[in-house]
Amino acid sequence: MNPQTTHLIAADKSRLWHPFTQMKAWTDPTHQPLVIVDGEGALVRDSEGREYIDGNSSIWTNIHGHRHPVITQAIKDQLDKVAHVSFLGSTNAPAIELAERLVALLPDSHLTRVFYSDDGSTAVEVALKMALQYWQLTDRPHRNQFLSFANAYHGDTAGAASLGGLGTFFDRFGAIHFKSHHVTDLAALEALPKEVTSRLAAVIIEPKVQGAAGIQLWPEGMLIKLRAWCDRVGALLIFDEVLTGFGRTGRMFACEHESVAPDFLCLAKGLTGGYLPLAATLTTERIYEAFLGEFSELKTFFYGHSYCGNALGCSAALASLQIFENEHVLENLSGKISCLGELLTGLSSLPQVAEVRQCGFIAGVELQKSPGVPCDWRDQTGARACVAARKHGLLTRPILDTIALIPPLCISKDQLSSAVHALESAIKDTTI
Ligand code: PLP
Repeated sequence: MNPQTTHLIAADKSRLWHPFTQMKAWTDPTHQPLVIVDGEGALVRDSEGREYIDGNSSIWTNIHGHRHPVITQAIKDQLDKVAHVSFLGSTNAPAIELAERLVALLPDSHLTRVFYSDDGSTAVEVALKMALQYWQLTDRPHRNQFLSFANAYHGDTAGAASLGGLGTFFDRFGAIHFKSHHVTDLAALEALPKEVTSRLAAVIIEPKVQGAAGIQLWPEGMLIKLRAWCDRVGALLIFDEVLTGFGRTGRMFACEHESVAPDFLCLAKGLTGGYLPLAATLTTERIYEAFLGEFSELKTFFYGHSYCGNALGCSAALASLQIFENEHVLENLSGKISCLGELLTGLSSLPQVAEVRQCGFIAGVELQKSPGVPCDWRDQTGARACVAARKHGLLTRPILDTIALIPPLCISKDQLSSAVHALESAIKDTTI
């Protein structure tokens, strides 16, 4: 190992605390974390010169590949003007232009107002707090509870975590959570008593596919039915497209598959093409107008972050949207989605594979101990398979025993094929 890598790893282990990471295992002398030094297109390289396909798009963020010249140039150009100015009391051209572009992407949705924040969690937090305040401002303050689905993941800030349905992550923080209900499916939703439904401020869903739940697909028509149910009981509807936005499901937004518009749309991760942290919560004039009034009426949405409307992030996002157009990204994607599907079919027949699930360019390969017998989560089989995949040139992450394959949209069919073959070899190499 080169001395610089050794030095960096030692310094990392002595100073850092990584997200979602058991640091005892991370700092174990036998653990050699990868130090990623550069990337290009769908590939990233580590400090030892090894190259990997970025099989989870750097935690589901990267869209057009690393070091795309158009995004790089847009950030540099903005940097030559100003990196960041306050969005409280002033505005900036990239933020304005991006809001216009985002609204134009959803012409029939009535989503015409854009509120910026920093990441997926804050995009959701904004939607929740706007929903709560909307009901207060419209004389229905009793609508102060939320509803989400079992196994959902909407982020880690306290509000967003209240809606999370993954007990391992969230239960320990229950005492500080917003009041929320969790249901498994539409049938459970329909069965809720009026005492619950009449108190709901909003319902939140990851449209088409739950990512952190292990790539679990919703049945066709789910969004249409959920929209109708929310309208019936008078609850607002939030679509969390933090994962599914920006082409991941084959359309620009997952809600387009069922032509359903929410009252709030949460965007982050791929918004900047995966280059900078930026989020947007889109909502309707109906919601927005409820907040208008004299200052003394205290209807203002008193919420914000230092980096709201960050000019570099907005410039990167504008460049990303330009690439979608210039490179016909969505048009080219459909062939790659079919190609991924065909390649994954080969994996389904492995005895170690319980199920392969795919929604557009979001795929999950669930491992099993033996046919019909799930892995024991304590064995960390998925994690071990992902470590094995590195030797075959694939970098990705597990969700327990489901291995996520969520590559940048720019990946070539040859690289896709290499990624799936690397995964197959890794699964075969792993003791299950
Ligand atoms: N919502 C969904 C559907 C997500 O998948 C995630 C992250 O994976 C989030 C929200 C939280 O986003 P962030 O990690 O940017 O806060």
